[in-house]
Amino acid sequence: MNLNKLIFTENACYKAGRKIKVKGIMVHSTGANNTYLKRYVGPDDGTLGKNQYNNHWNQPMDRAVCVHGFIGKLQNGSIATYQTLPWDHRGWHAGGAANNTHTSFEICEDGLNDRSYFEKVYKEAIELCAYLCKLYALNPLADGVIIGHYEGHQRGIASNHGDPRHWFSKFGKSMDTFRQDVQKLMSGSSVTPTPSDDPPAKLEAGYYRVRKSWQDKKSQIGAYKVLANAKRKADENSGYFVFDDEGTAIYPEKSAAEYGTYTVVSGDSLWRIAARLLGDGRRYPEIKKLNGLTSDVIHAGQKFKIPGVAPDVTAIKVGDTVRVTASNYATGQTVPNWVKERTHKVSQVEKDKVLLGWPDGIASWLPIDGVKKI
Ligand SMILES: [Zn+2]
Repeated sequence: MNLNKLIFTENACYKAGRKIKVKGIMVHSTGANNTYLKRYVGPDDGTLGKNQYNNHWNQPMDRAVCVHGFIGKLQNGSIATYQTLPWDHRGWHAGGAANNTHTSFEICEDGLNDRSYFEKVYKEAIELCAYLCKLYALNPLADGVIIGHYEGHQRGIASNHGDPRHWFSKFGKSMDTFRQDVQKLMSGSSVTPTPSDDPPAKLEAGYYRVRKSWQDKKSQIGAYKVLANAKRKADENSGYFVFDDEGTAIYPEKSAAEYGTYTVVSGDSLWRIAARLLGDGRRYPEIKKLNGLTSDVIHAGQKFKIPGVAPDVTAIKVGDTVRVTASNYATGQTVPNWVKERTHKVSQVEKDKVLLGWPDGIASWLPIDGVKKI
């Protein structure tokens, strides 16, 4: 970890001067494509670089926000952590009661597609959390100690944001793997590097085989050491796949499995869907692109693929908060508008229906495909 300190003494949060007993750490990511610390941390200390817009957070701001640290790039492109509040200062990061219990940091996002940058900041964040857990004698695996902003929302102690799940999930990571990696680091074993899902570009042994199916050996139309060549062959011949030497189909990627599906409800907009499912309304062009939309106008009942969201985003569990999309209850009676306009807690799940709001709510059964997790 490359830990530096530049306390935001000019931010109103610092000036408010309240202290907390640190019971946990909340992990955030910025939601903006800017990897440079100087965007948030200033003034330039000679290492950060100059923020030409002077919109860093160490000044009176029009928004009441302040976190305890940032992870991102220095001027020279290397990764660093900057502490920006005393760790036990009451921060303004969660938009909820977690401000009273959790210290916090932001990881500067990029365009969310650079694995190398992600791996570096993920590792830096693990090291920072291990350091803080030691400092405050916290157990990283204990319930509610290290949580993502979105988990704070699920617990009712933070505002409704999706960070950092929307980013971690793109590289096979989650807050669960994160907590485990912090634990591993603290217990002395080295953190296993992120296993790369990407097959090697060139095989040392064996071949990338292009076939219709692994079993159908006769369908083979090529075998290659170089993955790009195998992919090209598969691209030229529809219905063919590239198999690795163990017989796993690795190309084309099974795209359906990488998207969640979302059914538009009345009152939705692309912005709201992106805000809810991707954690940031500004990401709505990704939904447009993936679904080939040419207009921003959408209609209730349309189904959209949602990029980078696990397919089980639609799976409903007891305790989930949902909105009703169905016109009729499981009993067949009409669902009134006021029921559609508010959210409900799932109390029970059966194969094809769910009970909402029991005992303190609407206490009604809905068809399982007639509710939408939010
Ligand atoms: Zn956040």
